[in-house]
This record gives sequence, structure tokens and C-alpha cells, in this order.
Amino acid sequence: MKKQYFLADEAATVGLGTALAEVVKRDIQKGITVYLNGDLGAGKTTLTRGFVRGMGHQGNVKSPTYTLVEPYELSPWQVYHFDLYRLADPEELEFMGIRDYFSDNSCSFIEWPEKGQGLLAGPDLIIDLAYQEEQRTVSLTSQSELGNQVLATLAA
Ligand code: ADP
Ligand code: MG
Repeated sequence: MKKQYFLADEAATVGLGTALAEVVKRDIQKGITVYLNGDLGAGKTTLTRGFVRGMGHQGNVKSPTYTLVEPYELSPWQVYHFDLYRLADPEELEFMGIRDYFSDNSCSFIEWPEKGQGLLAGPDLIIDLAYQEEQRTVSLTSQSELGNQVLATLAA
């Protein structure tokens, strides 16, 4: 399944992330793995911020560019925001114990997933963000039955 939206401004990008969080908490009640694609500045971190906030986090959401991952303990959920842009060697992910990050109650949003190819859990959703002049378009493609359920439940 595939859904596409026009995102008129930053608030719309945040809002899509929050809407995904609502679907996970209310309808799916299971963790999801999301791969985020798009050029620098396309809105991957912005969308993730909406998700993290929607899952209940009230503080800042900073980009984990140097740390590779920012964990959010939002009981009963764990939310992991990965940014693999600076990952030099996929072995770093093995040293981090990457496999332990993917479990039933964990949601992982992963920027630059191609850098961790072969070591990450497969995605339930792939989100592609693109510039449309000053604004953005986004497409969400499901890659699993869980991803299908998420998209089917997402409004419009
Ligand atoms: P990425 O993580 O993909 O590199 P960021 O989310 O860090 O991108 O930055 C995206 C930038 O684009 C931010 O400055 C944000 O305010 C802006 N932005 C996000 N969504 C939109 C949108 N729908 N329209 C216009 N600007 C947006
Ligand atoms: Mg980013």
C-alpha cells in the first residue's frame, strides 16, 4: 500500500509524525520500523520529532548525527531515532548491539538506512520525503502486514 501527501509547512511534517504515533499507540499497539529517505533538509528529523512527541516525549528531539541513535524510554514504548549519515563502518552497529534495539515494543525511525544495510530490521514502512520548491511531498510505502495496517488506519 502507498499513500502520498503534500506537506505545506513544517507543522504538517510534524503532524504526520504525530498521526503515525497515534495509530501505533491506539490501533496497532505494536512497535514499527520505519526507514526515512530524502535529501538533507527534506524533513526526516522533523517528521521523527512529531512521532517522538506523539509517543509522549515532552522535551527536545535533537538530531543524533554524532551519536547514531537517540533513545526515548516512553513506557511501555521504546522509541529509537537513528541517523546513520556519519556511519563509517557498519560494524559500529554490531558493537552497539543493534539487534537488541528491535523488539515488539520498540519503534525505530532510521535516517540514511542504506548505510546500515544488512544489519537493520526490515522496514514496516518506507517514507520518502522530497522537496517541492519550498515545501515538501511525502510518500509512505508499506513493506509488511503491520505497515499495511498502519497505512490503512492513517487518516485520508
Ligand atoms: P533532514 O532530517 O531530512 O535532514 P530536517 O528535518 O532536519 O531534515 O530539516 C528539515 C527542514 O525543513 C527544517 O528546517 C524544517 O523546518 C523544514 N521543513 C520541514 N517540513 C517542511 C515542509 N513541509 N515545508 C517547508 N519546510 C519544511
Ligand atoms: Mg536529519
